[in-house]
Amino acid sequence: TAAPSTPALSGHFARALPEMSLPWRAEPAPRPRLLVLNEPLAAELGLDPDWLRGPEGLGLLLGTDVPQDATPVAQAYAGHQFGHYSPRLGDGRALLLGELVHADGRPRDLHLKGSGRTPFSRGGDGLAAVGPMLREHLVSEAMHAMGIPTTRSLAVVATGRPVRREDLLPGAVLARVASSHLRVGSFQYARATDDTDLLRRLADHAIARHHPAAAQAERPYLALFEAVVAAQASLVARWMLVGFIHGVMNTDNMTISGETIDYGPCAFLEAFDPTTVYSSIDHGGRYAYGNQPPVAQWNLARLAEALLPLFHDDQEEAIALAVAALGAFRQRYDRAWSAGMRAKLGLSADLPDAVVSPLVDQLITLLRTGHVDHTSFHRRLGAAARGDAEPARELFLDLAAIDDWIARWRALRPDAEAMDRVNPVYIPRNHLVEEALTAATEGDLAPFERLLDAVSAPYDERPGLERYAEPAPRDFAAAYRTF
Ligand code: AMP
Ligand code: MG
Ligand code: MG
Repeated sequence: TAAPSTPALSGHFARALPEMSLPWRAEPAPRPRLLVLNEPLAAELGLDPDWLRGPEGLGLLLGTDVPQDATPVAQAYAGHQFGHYSPRLGDGRALLLGELVHADGRPRDLHLKGSGRTPFSRGGDGLAAVGPMLREHLVSEAMHAMGIPTTRSLAVVATGRPVRREDLLPGAVLARVASSHLRVGSFQYARATDDTDLLRRLADHAIARHHPAAAQAERPYLALFEAVVAAQASLVARWMLVGFIHGVMNTDNMTISGETIDYGPCAFLEAFDPTTVYSSIDHGGRYAYGNQPPVAQWNLARLAEALLPLFHDDQEEAIALAVAALGAFRQRYDRAWSAGMRAKLGLSADLPDAVVSPLVDQLITLLRTGHVDHTSFHRRLGAAARGDAEPARELFLDLAAIDDWIARWRALRPDAEAMDRVNPVYIPRNHLVEEALTAATEGDLAPFERLLDAVSAPYDERPGLERYAEPAPRDFAAAYRTF
């Protein structure tokens, strides 16, 4: 089948909500070079991989050669960054090229990151470096392969333009695909304009695009909020279960769709410890691993504040409705996390909570006090379900405690096959990501490609990939910082 050469980008957001964006263009790239192309995703979007590799395709992926009728825009949004409100953030180094129709019949945003300065750039240079854009490609594809809702990466193209950070680095543009780029911060921005009609149109747009069932509810805007609460509770539970630490859960980095967005300082948990922080800009540990559920709820409270005028004409009533809807977060999160833990431990949904909960609590304590590698433990426990406990127990110093725990857990007849389907063997381990990105920055893409290949089939253990399944060397793990 011949794919159309020039994709049809609809520009729907730009037309429907002109107050929420500014038409803008990408900066030229002197020497474009394709670093990675997501061929399966291209196919799902009806894009021909061969065309994308050609000069016109690269022009699209860089935003320098867009279809004539496309209207690239920089989107406006506000947000709380580390708890402090900024009324005007917006796409400082990004552009929304428009929407494409996915094979599932639903629209996707095609968005560029690192495409140059915009009216929202403030002090920034509008650019992105090869390393961080490849990191986003790698980690978002790993998340997708684990079935966790996320924005996707279609491609990373090196620009040939150097970017000044601490050093001079090669520049790149990431082509990102998302069910939309609507954020909590988008609603904060609309609310701050005091234009209730704009706020309502934005909410209607979000309902139509993400939560269409809300339109049929008695209170559609409250139902929208409830749907976002549900989506985020489920998402953050998924993060916690795989040990994903987002690192910068500002309200502008939390989507209305429930997709993970913004892979800046993210990292995966190594030794199990809820206080773990890898980002060097998170001084107070606000976005530590164990804080992610309450932070998500805090962000959702900011969304509720923005939506209050739509909940009820009487603002006292509106607040009461918002508080009740927000209260559902904890329950939904706990339910999703508990069900996920059962699955990780291979335990039947029929077992009573009174049996499983204490066992889970004891495990958490053992993992924490033993500084046990989260991913390795859960995967190796599959072998313990098959009768070989040694790979899991060798991760512990207190062998008596883990032996006792394993005996009680095995008495519940865990299902090893089911465990292997939910406990990844390959994740983007921090030392492997750093190794791959360092090599890529120096021009060698082979380690990046090998790691991408490993994490793209995370549950499927393959010979030759042993080192991708091992915890980081201890000295690396202790000192690791992103950003
Ligand atoms: P983030 O922390 O990545 O969510 O970004 C916060 C804000 O800073 C957003 O408005 C970004 O568009 C903007 N920003 C981040 N990096 C740059 C950059 N290099 N140039 C311009 N704006 C940036
Ligand atoms: Mg961001
Ligand atoms: Mg970012």
